[in-house]
Amino acid sequence: MEREFKELKRRLAEISDLELVISLLNWDQSTYMPPGGGPARGRQMATLARLSQEKFADAAIGRLLDALQPYVDDLPYDSDEASLVRVTRREYERLLKVPPSFMAEYYNHSASQYQLWTEARPANDFAAVLPGLQKTLDLSRQMANFFPGYEHIGDPLIEIADYGMKASTLQHLFAELRAQLVPIVQAITSQPPADDACLHQHFPKAQQQELSKAIIRQLGYDFDRGRLDETHHPFMTKFSLGDVRILTRYLEDKLEEALFSSIHEAGHAMYEQGICRDFEATPLASGIAAGLHESQSRLWENIVGRNRGFWEYYYPSLQAAFVDQLKTTSLDTFYRAINKVERSLVRTAADEVTYNLHIMLRFDLELALLDGSLAIHDLPEAWHTRIQDDFGITPPDDRDGVLQDVHWFNGFIGGAFQGYTLGNILSVQFYEAALKAHPGIPDEICQGQFETLRAWLTKNIYQHGSKFTTQELVQRATGSPIQIEPYIRYLRAKFGELYRL
Ligand code: ZN
Repeated sequence: MEREFKELKRRLAEISDLELVISLLNWDQSTYMPPGGGPARGRQMATLARLSQEKFADAAIGRLLDALQPYVDDLPYDSDEASLVRVTRREYERLLKVPPSFMAEYYNHSASQYQLWTEARPANDFAAVLPGLQKTLDLSRQMANFFPGYEHIGDPLIEIADYGMKASTLQHLFAELRAQLVPIVQAITSQPPADDACLHQHFPKAQQQELSKAIIRQLGYDFDRGRLDETHHPFMTKFSLGDVRILTRYLEDKLEEALFSSIHEAGHAMYEQGICRDFEATPLASGIAAGLHESQSRLWENIVGRNRGFWEYYYPSLQAAFVDQLKTTSLDTFYRAINKVERSLVRTAADEVTYNLHIMLRFDLELALLDGSLAIHDLPEAWHTRIQDDFGITPPDDRDGVLQDVHWFNGFIGGAFQGYTLGNILSVQFYEAALKAHPGIPDEICQGQFETLRAWLTKNIYQHGSKFTTQELVQRATGSPIQIEPYIRYLRAKFGELYRL
């Protein structure tokens, strides 16, 4: 078996090399590449993506997996070798079901649709993207139909992002959450909004950069295996387990932007930096699923980064960095400002309490489009109605309505959004489990110490890479299946205190 394992790992390393080089090209495109590099860069990335797909869908991989199966059947489920074969087989079989010609058509279509969207959004021109969006919907349905036997046509698309999840499970979970959330949102937004003027003064970029670096270093982001750069849309990317980078965005009139997006992306990155190094260059060497990954970024961004104790420790340094701007602002005013709750139109700017309503809206509309109960040309109207129902406000146009998110314009319709809300729910479930094991964590946060929390996350989540599914990992780490109660408890405690609910 040793020979087969060696051969499988050699092939997987080649595939991983190709994929991580694509990430490097993409990182460069998002940072330092001059505009003239665009067309060739698109082609280069497409070439590498095709090569890596061909290498993965090679029948030789299937033969190696078959040869290894009887051997790993005798190993424990969570052993490295059994997990490698199981996870590789899942990906291999998925790739075999989707014809390469379909993927080529899909990539071409989404590249041109994305281009249209970049112009249509500022122009508030839904009509310009409508025919393309209809084609995206057709392609999304075709994609789903490569995986017959589903309960809802959205299931296969949801599974691509969040393996093991399906529409009905999520609808049930989200309905429960929604029932609890709506009254909280109403109770808060019927009060005068928090004053966040202190965040919207002039904060020079250079000082913001220093501050972001200092904070994420203290949280535990390893700069020997990463770096922080600047881009238009913050993200995390990885070229190996020894090189996990983050990108943030500085707005000189919005202190919260770089601060919290740096912490958010550092949360994603610490997850990747914490994966067992033996998994390097295999399919196990990455965090699992959209929702689980998002739980790690949200945990650091919201539970730690928007926590009062955290700022009891950090606020004096922040005031020292921005003396003119913050010397007369109290910690309490600052804390309320970074936790301001309001009915707003834009998802990415939404607060912890209203954020999930934005996601559920998109999730429900995606499913309705896929199952045919909503037509593409009725989408803007459906969006407006739902915003009106949930938030009591009316979008003035489609720019901050149906055109606001890139997801449906550079990817499939289906599976694009549920991960954000799953992430919010899971972030608190994991944090509660960590507190149960180490009740001293909140006191440590007040002292700027994060080792105990990070060690718990590394042991229970990070180190496992892609070994387990989301449900398996949640069960192992918390002793329960996915549940919304911890998240609701957290919101009630934090915002109940802030808004005297
Ligand atoms: Zn994220």
